[in-house]
Amino acid sequence: MKMEGETVYLKKNLTEWRFSQYPKYILLPIDENHNQNISNTKNVVFSEVTPRPLERNIQLVCVSEDALMNILDMDPDIVNREEFAEFVAGQKLPYGALPVAHRYGGHQYGSWAGQLGDGRAHILGEYVNSQGDRWQIQLKGSGQTPYSRIHDGRAVLRSAIREMIGCEACHFLGIPTTRAAGLVVSDETVIRDMYYNGNPRRERAAVMLRLAPSWFRFGSLEILSKNGEVAVLRQLSDFIIKEYFPDIHLSDENRFIRLFSEIAHRTLDLVAKWQAGLGFTHGLLNTDNMSLLGLAIDYGPFGFVDSYDGGFVANCSDGEGKYALGKQPDVVIWNVGQLANALKPLLTSSQQGHMSHILKTLDTYCKNKILETFLMKVGLKEERWGDEQLVEKLLDMMQQTGADFTSTFRQLAELEPSEMVHEGKLEDKWSLKRLSSHPSWGCWLDQYRERLDKEAVDANSLGLFEDERRRRMCSVNPVYVPRNWLLQEAIADAEKDDFQKVRFLLETMRNPYEVQPEAERRGFSAQPPQWAFALKISCST
Ligand code: AMP
Ligand code: MG
Repeated sequence: MKMEGETVYLKKNLTEWRFSQYPKYILLPIDENHNQNISNTKNVVFSEVTPRPLERNIQLVCVSEDALMNILDMDPDIVNREEFAEFVAGQKLPYGALPVAHRYGGHQYGSWAGQLGDGRAHILGEYVNSQGDRWQIQLKGSGQTPYSRIHDGRAVLRSAIREMIGCEACHFLGIPTTRAAGLVVSDETVIRDMYYNGNPRRERAAVMLRLAPSWFRFGSLEILSKNGEVAVLRQLSDFIIKEYFPDIHLSDENRFIRLFSEIAHRTLDLVAKWQAGLGFTHGLLNTDNMSLLGLAIDYGPFGFVDSYDGGFVANCSDGEGKYALGKQPDVVIWNVGQLANALKPLLTSSQQGHMSHILKTLDTYCKNKILETFLMKVGLKEERWGDEQLVEKLLDMMQQTGADFTSTFRQLAELEPSEMVHEGKLEDKWSLKRLSSHPSWGCWLDQYRERLDKEAVDANSLGLFEDERRRRMCSVNPVYVPRNWLLQEAIADAEKDDFQKVRFLLETMRNPYEVQPEAERRGFSAQPPQWAFALKISCST
């Protein structure tokens, strides 16, 4: 355990970097005998299986220096050693590795899809870092497992870049999320029909080094419950409580209710941050993509909405818009309902009644969290009468004018008092200019100004209050999010072996709340180009 002020020794090579403790997951049932596809295995949580490494011409695309140093205790120079890329490619297993693939199921687009599982990911082991935190180290794209079904076990470069930048950006934007430390690409290819429209092409395969305290999902419990594997369901639920929810006691007869309540509320806290904090649309909100720790997990066809639209659909394969931005809270609450169903076999009938009661409160809880988040974004510390309408009106105007989500809030944060009047010039505030074309803008701005003045009453001087307000708002309204057009440009270059843009975007997203000159020069916070609005992101990965 690191003491305050103590410097951490950063490991310089992979001989020094090792799994020095057994992973806790060896306490759970692991199938040791299958290398074949399994569609009907029972009573296991993992299958032992070694990665199938990428071999041909491995190149390191990018790393997260923060994840390397602060999670893995690695010296950033380690990435200059060939063995690092070989490790990420799955060629070199660290000392003490015990690779497994996890068995889970899931509801996809509202229907039970049966057993899914890690079809292309291997958990290698658990690294206990210098802070004393235990992280599960996973490779994604590292070859077939018993859960691959008809698939090839690989991930393509474009999807790996999206996940790597997506999760690292979300971390720095303040979203609880799984992490990624590095990404390699090889000359090995796989075939993908990106838009599922009969145009398959060869794409290069990539592997990502992913990190999370745990990779368990709602579907981890659902599969056991659906199949009537109640003893293992109880064992896994108790394991999760013991390892990840230390405030819940294993001797507590209501522990599964408490577990459910904690996961439900964490998950809704997450969705409120997505909705109100960032305009983030996950794109594939199946229960196999819902973390039991309330983390954002499995970034595929996600999108940060540009022009605000509650109907924004990030995933072009979601024709009906089931997972549209504005529907996420309802979808997530429905998913939480599936988690409740999964836990039912562990509950008495009165406990089931208690759980139904908790479920009924979630809608209001989520709405309140979303409002709370929006109030912070517009610089209001606590709710007063009329605030909800103020926020709703702003969103209506944004929806009707197509004003940009990220930049509207940031530019409101940066508004000078002289600009807070109806005919204010709004200088270079391109998103507010667009918003101000709405007939109600002037009236809304007057109300907003008045409301802020009420907030300032207690402040000693209005000038001081203004500075403080701007600082506070800038700390919750990012300048940069990884917009689809930025990702797309970075991916296009990476496909030609030029990784500069990927690395620069990753670097910029380390400080998303700070204006950065080079990112400004590259237009990262400017109006997105017209082609950005025609971009289609599919769930093909
Ligand atoms: P995802 O869309 O990545 O969340 O994946 C949904 C399910 O399909 C998971 O069980 C994945 O492991 C599996 N899957 C997706 N792509 C592949 C692939 N190329 N090879 C094997 N399994 C895959
Ligand atoms: Mg998934």
